[in-house]
Amino acid sequence: MPRPKRPQHYYDEIKDKFREERNLRLGYRPPGTDQYTSELSGDLAKYAVDPYAKDVPTREPITDEVEVLFIGGGFSALLTSARLRERGLESIRIVERGSDVGGTWYWNRYPGAACDVVSYDYLPLLDELDYVPVNHYSRGPEIFSHCQAIAHKYNLYDLAVFNTTVTETRWDQTDQLWHVKTDQGDVMRAQFVICANGTLAKPKLSAIDGMESFAGHSFHTSRWDYDYTGENLEHLKDKVVGIIGTGASAVQIVPELAKVAKEVFVFQRTPSSIDIRDDWPTDPNWARKLQPGWQHKRREKVLAAVENSLEKRAAKGATSPEEKLRKQENANIDYMMRIHRRIDEIVDDPSTADALKPWYMFMCKRPCFHNEYLPSFNLPNVHLVDTQGQGITQISPQGPVFDGKEYGLDLLIYATGFEVQQTGIYNDIVGAGGVNLQDKYAQGIRTLLGIHTAGFPNLFIMGGYQASFQFNLTEMLQTQGDHIAACIDYVRANGHHVIDVKDEAEEWWVQNVIQHRGKTNRSEECTPGYYNFEGNEQRRQDGNYNGGFRQYFQHQGQVREKMEDNFHLAARKD
Ligand code: NDP
Repeated sequence: MPRPKRPQHYYDEIKDKFREERNLRLGYRPPGTDQYTSELSGDLAKYAVDPYAKDVPTREPITDEVEVLFIGGGFSALLTSARLRERGLESIRIVERGSDVGGTWYWNRYPGAACDVVSYDYLPLLDELDYVPVNHYSRGPEIFSHCQAIAHKYNLYDLAVFNTTVTETRWDQTDQLWHVKTDQGDVMRAQFVICANGTLAKPKLSAIDGMESFAGHSFHTSRWDYDYTGENLEHLKDKVVGIIGTGASAVQIVPELAKVAKEVFVFQRTPSSIDIRDDWPTDPNWARKLQPGWQHKRREKVLAAVENSLEKRAAKGATSPEEKLRKQENANIDYMMRIHRRIDEIVDDPSTADALKPWYMFMCKRPCFHNEYLPSFNLPNVHLVDTQGQGITQISPQGPVFDGKEYGLDLLIYATGFEVQQTGIYNDIVGAGGVNLQDKYAQGIRTLLGIHTAGFPNLFIMGGYQASFQFNLTEMLQTQGDHIAACIDYVRANGHHVIDVKDEAEEWWVQNVIQHRGKTNRSEECTPGYYNFEGNEQRRQDGNYNGGFRQYFQHQGQVREKMEDNFHLAARKD
């Protein structure tokens, strides 16, 4: 449908309102990520405890040597391992904090957990596993099972070590191996280490005055306590439940709470944009006709479609960069106003509907898709507590306090998200010459492709900064896994032992990242959130590579075509 023609002042006034709402929020908060805490120790230690690890067996410390060691057992490790196995690598160990593989899908077992990327694109290695997802969108348990199926198929359980957190990863110049220490007293050695600890792995809590004093039960969304709620939330029917946060996790949880709990209070600081999410069971006739290689072809097609995106369509016929940007922004605002109209159509109470309207550009925050979230607010047991950008800043023994009112709760759920893309969470990474990776990054992140960083031989980083961001994360991780497996294969096939990126190759990529960061200016104008470092100024190189996913993929290939130019490669010293 063509967009209605509106005068420019209509768009300018909405942009003014976006700015106002952003400034309001920045004014309320401590700067950047300081408003959060992810150091979950002392009184807060209970929020980090793994509720899914039952009867963890004790074991002796491990001191052996493997070829490849993954820190983390989520999709990064699984996808790379699959490719390494295909290339004949035998000695692969996953070291994982949880009690199974799965990463995000191990931890996020909250009711309603599902993925917003179409399952046929998101679930990886479907050809290899000869599996077709059950629905158009996969639910959490199916994705978790798929992770386990990958680990079984590629024999990754054999050497895996669970319930174990890596605390130090140090390159030893003498034996030219990584020495990996853990909280279980292990000192494992590995030729190659792959940081596969995920992009949103460490839960964070909003640091709220009095939070330790809360007398009811509480947990973070990624540590769902089914002992308390019951498997089907049946224990909540006489409970008053509160949830802090309205991001993608809360949007999926609230409708489930709404169906069961006696009362639900949703404490909102900034609303999410919620679009339609139509789901359906996979058509068995379609599934039967799928030919080998179907997923790869499908992903290619989706990628091509994305390139012909909203942005490009808006830019059609643009005469100057300013005109192009204006058209882009106007199309974005039209989309957001459609999101507003949808809220008015669904939510009965006009003031609740108004409070649920997001005032920022599309993609300033992670967009959400759900058909039941907005209708939940029409139920008599569900109450929106809109803090109008301020957030909950005080919790009493009874519950959150806002605007002089205390909300007495039995259960308080923190849907406050995760620390973003830190390489080496819980873990000190020390490279050749004793340099700590965090100290190197303190001067600005420096990598080649977000994967290699000079002075850290035989170390590969997955899902970190300076890589391309993809809404379908598994596709991006698969390209990184393919690249890493090819690099390791090259080292082995050519009689080398060590691979370390050259300074000039690293510098080339840093400049590439900086050059394309210009395209993200809009995110500086966005309402604060983890996409824009909570509104903090950021060094230009400390972010994602924004040159496009296809280009990122092509650069990986080009780097591999000139291995000897881009890397120091050497045999093992005697
Ligand atoms: P987010 O970081 O997206 O959301 C945190 C929420 O907590 C925000 O709404 C934030 O408000 C709010 N908040 C923080 N402090 C306070 C406070 N003091 N008072 C009130 N509210 C507060 O975390 P999520 O766990 O929701 O999502 C993390 C990411 O995980 C997603 O963005 C997505 O990438 C992924 N995910 C994907 C899913 C999917 O595929 N469907 C499902 C779930 C997660 P404010 O916005 O103002 O900062």
